[in-house]
Amino acid sequence: MNNNLPNAPHVQVLIVGSGFAGLGMAIQLQQAGYSDFLLLEKAAEPGGTWRDNSYPGAACDVPSHLYSFSFEPKHDWSRKFAPQAEIHQYSLHLISKYRLAERIRCNAEVSSAAFVEENGGWRVTLSDGEELTCDVLISACGQLNQPAYPALPGLAQFQGQAFHSARWRHDLDLEGKRVAVIGTGASAIQFVPQIQPKVAQLMLFQRSAAYVLSKPDRAYSRWEQGLFKRVPLLQRVNRGLMYLHHEVRGLAFISLPWLMTFMRRSFDRHLRQHITDPALRERLQPDYPMGCKRILISNDYLPALAQPNVQVITDTISEVRAHSIVTADGREHACDTLIYGTGFAATEFLSPMHITGRGGQVLNEVWRDGAEAYKGISVSGFPNLFILYGPNTNLGHNSILYMLESQFRYVLGCMRLMTQRGLRWIDVKADTQARYNRTVQADSHRTIWEQGCTSWYKLASGKNTNNWPGYTFTYRFQTRKPELHDYDCHR
Ligand SMILES: Cc1cc2nc3c(=O)[nH]c(=O)nc-3n(C[C@H](O)[C@H](O)[C@H](O)COP(=O)(O)OP(=O)(O)OC[C@H]3O[C@@H](n4cnc5c(N)ncnc54)[C@H](O)[C@@H]3O)c2cc1C
Repeated sequence: MNNNLPNAPHVQVLIVGSGFAGLGMAIQLQQAGYSDFLLLEKAAEPGGTWRDNSYPGAACDVPSHLYSFSFEPKHDWSRKFAPQAEIHQYSLHLISKYRLAERIRCNAEVSSAAFVEENGGWRVTLSDGEELTCDVLISACGQLNQPAYPALPGLAQFQGQAFHSARWRHDLDLEGKRVAVIGTGASAIQFVPQIQPKVAQLMLFQRSAAYVLSKPDRAYSRWEQGLFKRVPLLQRVNRGLMYLHHEVRGLAFISLPWLMTFMRRSFDRHLRQHITDPALRERLQPDYPMGCKRILISNDYLPALAQPNVQVITDTISEVRAHSIVTADGREHACDTLIYGTGFAATEFLSPMHITGRGGQVLNEVWRDGAEAYKGISVSGFPNLFILYGPNTNLGHNSILYMLESQFRYVLGCMRLMTQRGLRWIDVKADTQARYNRTVQADSHRTIWEQGCTSWYKLASGKNTNNWPGYTFTYRFQTRKPELHDYDCHR
């Protein structure tokens, strides 16, 4: 046991990131008897996605009982889809219940990591130059952690306030302002209805319309919360049913894209119900197959767009000026505040970090044609590096936390095997990884994400780097235990 953890120069396991992946992994390590581990977090506080995305209306779009760890159920979620603050509080609860605070070092951004073959471990360098070493390095940096900003001509000239939804400026009062929102993805559909009643004018710049379905949200009553507390089995059954429901929906994404026709009808109904103006309805019709981009759920987004202070602008932005945005049709839209609802650099994965593996190979170079990993976790040439929520482990239909729990088990399995066999390091075989990824890409072609659209799941080349093209139970089965013959092993 390392008694002085936050300042220890060497630990057995270093985890980069303190979102759900980092925290969940830490808890599982602890429960498996590991005590020499440390989490490095670049931000001033722990928490990941739900610390960063505090914009008005932020909430999960997978039911909370499913979007929480199976090993740490929470009986008193306030709503079916809990708001951001409550999910963030759940992360803080994990930290306090499992006494993780002393194992998390904040303001510690990993800028590079290099595998040291002689020691069979990693040398990790922080952005201030400090160095640490570890035997096992676990990346828990998330896929949706680096805000993506649009490259618009003249953006630097803008004189008003501009910010990204993941860096919400709570100090700014939007009351009576002319606000331009760029982007209509999962975050924008949550904050637009919240700010619309306040602002004088809301100009929504839409490059591509979203399929929006109604959100089956509601508050949980006291007696339901009490029942979940007193009869934990009931909560587990409820969670299981939610899981099944989402997995069944997966059929339409993964195996039988024609099933989307039924969801498409729900969208048409939702659109007709809330948008009566035929011209606006036309603008809000997506021009790609449903499910190809993320399907969004909201009860107040479309009604907000029908309000007189909202304009949905579909012309391309040609220039940003000091106090306005000019579109390709020559119109100039005056605005005071600009909000980027432009999502995240999801396909970049670990790229801000400079990771060097065996023989000096650099991960960003190895991944120049798109990230890939064995089971989304191991990359050949980068021994003892395990990636959580890595390439091809994102979902369009279920909870990421379910995928993370599969990954925790796999990583622990690898570590256990190393101890049992007296191995210093294991490195996934290149041909094993290549074979696995050929199957992933082949399977991707059958999915709805490959039916004719661009999305944050894919590169410009069309390669699916982000999504898991299968069912989550299949992934769980595949990751149930590591096979040593998949790895080059060294004592
Ligand atoms: C607005 C929003 C809503 C979402 N809703 C859902 C949902 O409803 N259901 C669902 O399944 N998923 C949802 N997701 C996806 C969500 O990201 C995952 O479910 C999950 O929270 C990912 O956890 P993580 O720990 O892997 O990553 P993150 O939560 O992104 O945490 C990564 C952490 O790593 C830190 N970090 C990154 N780089 C470094 C570095 N170099 N050095 C040190 N620290 C570093 C970051 O600061 C961050 O704290 C949503 C995402 C967003 C953005």
